[in-house]
Amino acid sequence: MLKRFPPKYRTDRDLRDLQRDGLRWTVEHAWNNSPFYRKRLEEFGVTPDTLRSLDDLARIPFTTAEDLRLGYPLPLRSVPPRDIVRIHSSSGTTGKRKILCYTQKDIDDWLDMFGRCYEMAGLTREDRVQICVGYGLWTAGVGFQLGAERFGAMAIPSGPGNLELQCNFLIDLETTVLCCTASMGLLLAEEVHARGLRGRLHLKKVILGAERTSQAMLHTIRDLLGVREVYDIPGLTELYGPGTGLSCRQNVGIHYWSDYYILEILDPDTLVPVAPGEIGEMVYTTLRKEAAPLLRYRSRDLTRLIAGPCPCGCILPRHDKILGRSDDMVVFRGVNIYPGQVDEVLARIGRIGSEYQVLLERKADGKDHMTVKVELAADPGAASSPVAPLIASEIKRNLMVSCTVETVPYGSLPRSERKTKRVFDNRPV
Ligand SMILES: [Zn+2]
Repeated sequence: MLKRFPPKYRTDRDLRDLQRDGLRWTVEHAWNNSPFYRKRLEEFGVTPDTLRSLDDLARIPFTTAEDLRLGYPLPLRSVPPRDIVRIHSSSGTTGKRKILCYTQKDIDDWLDMFGRCYEMAGLTREDRVQICVGYGLWTAGVGFQLGAERFGAMAIPSGPGNLELQCNFLIDLETTVLCCTASMGLLLAEEVHARGLRGRLHLKKVILGAERTSQAMLHTIRDLLGVREVYDIPGLTELYGPGTGLSCRQNVGIHYWSDYYILEILDPDTLVPVAPGEIGEMVYTTLRKEAAPLLRYRSRDLTRLIAGPCPCGCILPRHDKILGRSDDMVVFRGVNIYPGQVDEVLARIGRIGSEYQVLLERKADGKDHMTVKVELAADPGAASSPVAPLIASEIKRNLMVSCTVETVPYGSLPRSERKTKRVFDNRPV
């Protein structure tokens, strides 16, 4: 099915060989060219010649965002400065930004991965791709754009915000594919709806990137824009950027490019692999990245692997959507809660909108209290029963915690063009 950007293997055995060779190459490359990795590997008694099989991956020490911060600006650099053709950066939550560097081959590999995303989403060279995400240091804009050009579609680099211009371009340039964050997609979909433009659009597909997407948001975007296909594109600056996988056409998980990197799903506390299908932290090891290779990089993103062959016929493996970050995890009355779990519960309940907030407070009696604010749907219909008690009981059943649910009118919770904050922990430290 993938003809222009096919997997670089045919069987599971081919994949294991390819990953073993890529792992060996990466460790040797890092050992020879990066003082940071050389020191780290030596501390753990790992030398390139001792790596015999993929099982040896477990012996390799982890790399973290803290390493990037402490070694600012380019601790993972494994090529001479003259071979670096670009840098990208993502904002860290504390202190200095994370900066990553790329050789021309890294950029070429990245664009081939992006080409595979567009091919998997069923684009053709006739498509017109409006890219309303951030440019500059951020990987998203340039990644979506150069990926579209590599694929051969027409890129419309409209950038984030400016709903007036976005609406005009959608109609005047007959855009067929929209690339944006889920928050921006929602804003734009509501704008299109408010202006009554839906019937004049040529949109067929939406590709959402760079943000965790709730099912409810996805449905709203799809309905208001009148598109049939909405794809999710995962992205992490440390791992090239967006474009390293794409949600399956049949909506059964995200296919990821296992011929470019190894994905481990580990328990964030014990750092051993979780049981198949369990939630854990995504840990990346690149197989052919030159300028800033990753050796067991802890992303803090949480998901689960999806086992077995995909009904779509694609042999590339799958993980679930990103279910949150281990940093976003809050401990409430001894229970670990991830925002993604709240999304999952709300997605199964009708009559509500896409937006919600989780508020945590400590009451005068010293007990912690959780309130979930949920927007009602734009047109909730004549409800036979209030929806709040149903949400509270579903949260209790799925997350094992009690909460108060407040419903608020559609459109009353804040929207943003980038990432929407949903959990507010107001408890004293
Ligand atoms: Zn599939």
